[in-house]
Order: sequence, then structure tokens, then C-alpha cells
Amino acid sequence: MKIADIKIKIVTIPLLTPFKTALRTVTEIENILVTVVTDSNLTGFGGAAPTAVITGDTVGSIIAGIEHIRSHIVGMEIEQPEAVLQRLNRCLVGNTSAKAAVDMAIYDLTAKALDVPLYRLLGGMVNTLETDMTISLDTLDKMVAESKAKIDAGFNILKIKVGGSPDLDIERLQTIREMVGPDVKIRIDANQGWSVKEAVSIGKELQKRAIDIELMEQPVLARDYDGLKTVRDSLDLPVVADESIFSPRDAFKLLSMGAADGLNIKLMKCGGIYNALKIVAVAEAAGIPCMIGSMMESHVSVAAAAHLAVSQTNICRYDLDAPLFCSSNPGSGGISYQGARICLSDQPGLGINSFIE
Ligand SMILES: [Mg+2]
Repeated sequence: MKIADIKIKIVTIPLLTPFKTALRTVTEIENILVTVVTDSNLTGFGGAAPTAVITGDTVGSIIAGIEHIRSHIVGMEIEQPEAVLQRLNRCLVGNTSAKAAVDMAIYDLTAKALDVPLYRLLGGMVNTLETDMTISLDTLDKMVAESKAKIDAGFNILKIKVGGSPDLDIERLQTIREMVGPDVKIRIDANQGWSVKEAVSIGKELQKRAIDIELMEQPVLARDYDGLKTVRDSLDLPVVADESIFSPRDAFKLLSMGAADGLNIKLMKCGGIYNALKIVAVAEAAGIPCMIGSMMESHVSVAAAAHLAVSQTNICRYDLDAPLFCSSNPGSGGISYQGARICLSDQPGLGINSFIE
């Protein structure tokens, strides 16, 4: 089965509520959907999200990246995914979101050719997982009200966006912890919003006030590995790297330094499932667990992340709530949500039937 073409479609999806972090505010998203066409009757689906402030990828650069990849892999055999994915990764540097969209479509096709759901091909048996729910950075009152609404809707794990003023961040976390009680897990994500000193002092203050936090994600600037290590060494709280780690090589370097207690893998950062599996292996060798997250992506690419997530023992935290912010699903099939639970389709591949016109 040879790759014949890659078709590209841009979709705009308004969000149900604005998504706010220390880096950006988003009210609608654009995703780029790809269909890899073969010389058989099988097609593979994938998607990418532009997140210029994190990956550097824009709608235009993703389209150009996919067109470049297309010119290198058309005519290759799907039955040799290793060769296809090697060429995909080597035909241009960077452009991880474009790579991810095509990568997941290749995996979709490979699983379809074997007539198994992708998570089975990747080694998994279970087809469901529990995601956390992100609480956007906002006024104290709005964040508390939103936290309450999400707990009432059945979520047991909240990911609270912080990274504003340190005093206000501590007040936010204390108030939300008191409101939700001791049984709800609270993760915090500063999206690079603090200095090293601020992160250490906030972490110590949280410990002093006995505000129970599961982990602190990306407290400091992405490229400040030394700073991340200082924060990790200074606190009992687990420190997880997100924007700091894109590639398997980043993972190797960061973990060799002892700079993180966990890695947040996103397909848009690492270029897809092929590289994500290598990051999982590097982390496992270092004795470090992984989380899986996403950008503001639709059901299509989050389905790929979910298939990967349930198949890997060393991925044990899930932050795949982005489709719940979307007002519509641009595809049919794939994943579905029941409260905090994501259920994967048992159809072959990603389980996506088509894109909605
Ligand atoms: Mg993050």
C-alpha cells in the first residue's frame, strides 16, 4: 500500500469558554487536518494545532511543512512505517506540529492495515482513561467558581493555571483547595510564568501552609534547565517539565541533569507518536514517569494522544481535556467523553470515520 497524496483542511472551532494561561488567551482555535490517501481504499487521519508561542508553528508554517513532508513520502510503502517515519523526521528540522499530523495519520493507516485499534498496535489492552480538567488563569472568584463547576461535573483532578503574581497565585490555590476538599488532586501549571526565586518561594509557602499540590509544571523559562533543577532540588513537590522538553534528546539531557520529576509529552512538541515513544523509553530508563497533554487541539489529534497514552505503562497522568473546550468535533468517531472519562473507539486505527464538511 503506497502513499498517494496528503490532503490538507483548515478548521476553525470557537471555544465554549476562553482558554487563558500565563502565555496566551484563546477564544477560538484553528486546527489543520490531514488525510493521507493511499493507492488502496484506506486513508489515514491526523491533525495539528498551531501554538506559535510554544512550538513556533503557525497555520501557514504547518501547511508548508506538511506540503514539504508530502513531497518526500509520497510513493513510500505504509507497510514499512519505520522508513516512512524516519524520512518524515529527517526531511526537515523543527516543524513538529506538521510532523505530528502526518505521523499520526501513518500510525492510523498502519493499524487499519492490520485491522486493529491503534492502542492495540502500540501494546495496550485498556481503551479508557481519566483526564484532568484545566482551570484557566483568571480572577480569584472566576477560578474558584470554575473549579467548583468542574468538580460538580465529575472531575477528580484539576490542573490550575498559575504564573501571575506570586501572592495572588498562593491565594488562588489556598482558596480552591479549601473549597474542593482533600480528595481532589490539584496540579499547577505556571507556563514559565515565574522566576526561579519566585517558584521556590511559592513552593515553600504552599508546603508551609500545607496546601496539598500533586505537582508543579513548568515553573520557569523553557530553556532554563539549571533553573528547573534548582526548583526541583529546593522543593519536596514534584516538578514536571513541559515547554522545556520537545524531543527525545531534550528528555535525555534534562533527565541526565536530574532537572525534573516528570515529563509532559505533547505530540505537537515532539512531532508525533514515533518520537513520543522514544521519550517514554528515555524517561522510563531514568525512572521518571510521563504525563500526556495536548495543545488546544480538537478530538482528531487528541484521539492519537489518547491511543498512545493508554498503551504505555510509563504514561500515568493524562491532561487531554482540550476537546472539552471546543464547541464542535471536526471529525466523526475517535474519542468520546463521559465526564472525566475518555473512551476510545474500538474501530481500526484511530477510529475516526471522516472529517465533517
Ligand atoms: Mg503545561
